[in-house]
Amino acid sequence: MRYDRVYNFSAGPAMMPESVLEEIAAEVLNYHGSGMSVMEMSHRSPVFQEILSQAEADLRTLMHIPDNYKVLFVQGGGTVQFAMVPMNLMKNGVACYVETGAWSKKAIAEAKRYGEVKIVASSADKNFSYLPDCSALDIPGNADYVYICENETINGTAYHTLPDTKGKVLVADQSSLFLSRPCDVSKYGLIWAGVQKNVGPAGMAIVIIREDLIREDLPEFVPTYLRYKTHADADSLYNTPNCWSIYCCGKVFQYLLANGGLEAMAQRNEEKAAVLYDFLDRSKFFTAAVLKEDRSLMNVPFVSPSKEQDAEVAASAKAAGFDNLKGHKSVGGLRASIYNAMPKEGVEALVDFLKKYEAEHT
Ligand code: PLP
Repeated sequence: MRYDRVYNFSAGPAMMPESVLEEIAAEVLNYHGSGMSVMEMSHRSPVFQEILSQAEADLRTLMHIPDNYKVLFVQGGGTVQFAMVPMNLMKNGVACYVETGAWSKKAIAEAKRYGEVKIVASSADKNFSYLPDCSALDIPGNADYVYICENETINGTAYHTLPDTKGKVLVADQSSLFLSRPCDVSKYGLIWAGVQKNVGPAGMAIVIIREDLIREDLPEFVPTYLRYKTHADADSLYNTPNCWSIYCCGKVFQYLLANGGLEAMAQRNEEKAAVLYDFLDRSKFFTAAVLKEDRSLMNVPFVSPSKEQDAEVAASAKAAGFDNLKGHKSVGGLRASIYNAMPKEGVEALVDFLKKYEAEHT
């Protein structure tokens, strides 16, 4: 790696494409002859307006977002969306959630503040190591929406087929697989993603919402900033937005467009993940944590024979230039997050390291 960089397997904030960082570095002091950095620029200036509208246009192109969906750049990261979704979409006060791990549990806990939450499927019985069958969910007629975490960053599961929501609005937290594969936006009512995994700097979420779900008749208690309508009406400029994050995300959208779009990303990500999973499935020392058919291509949790060995693997890996392999503190073990920006060579080098480690410790 150039610039003394390491292979960074962090779950987020995560690696960004090197060429994007180089472009940003070249523009950091003087953006396109404006004489200032994007960090120093008024969000109402024509220069920034152009950055914002180009970012939105590029995202629309990348994801083929239909015209009847709004794209919103909202501050507060993913956690704010746990609250905004129920506050804005619970009209009847009933919502269905699929419980698949740490992040859907957080969403469930937050939704319970605003209404009745029906858990229509769960994989809690086996420590969230698989995805429950979502082909015949028992969804009440008055449910406002069905919510999934499409990729559980900590537990390492990802949907490869969307649930049958019986015509109800599908809401998905796509944070950790956003832009990693093509997505048919028309199948969802609302998609949201915290950007710090596959896109840009933390502190912002991108929300893609079907226009008819943007309500005016919300309860008085819903704060102005937490209404999707506020952001939709103001084209994401209701207040000072996270200009820097929008700018960096825009750079990544351009990088993705120039590198084959989401189809190419999906192919690369499948090849990359296969390198790691094939090794884990053959290894007698390391074990992948998730059932084969439900595995995430982005977050790969695995374990060695003991907690002590897990810690030792993570420490020796770090010393060898493979950083952030320690599993999330709530589940332990090891985890390699291999988002779009992780090159295949990084995964191959990690596998070589793990193979060597295994040979030396068995
Ligand atoms: N949803 C998922 C799937 C996540 O992985 C995360 C964070 O890692 C969040 C939500 C919360 O995002 P934030 O930390 O931006 O609040």
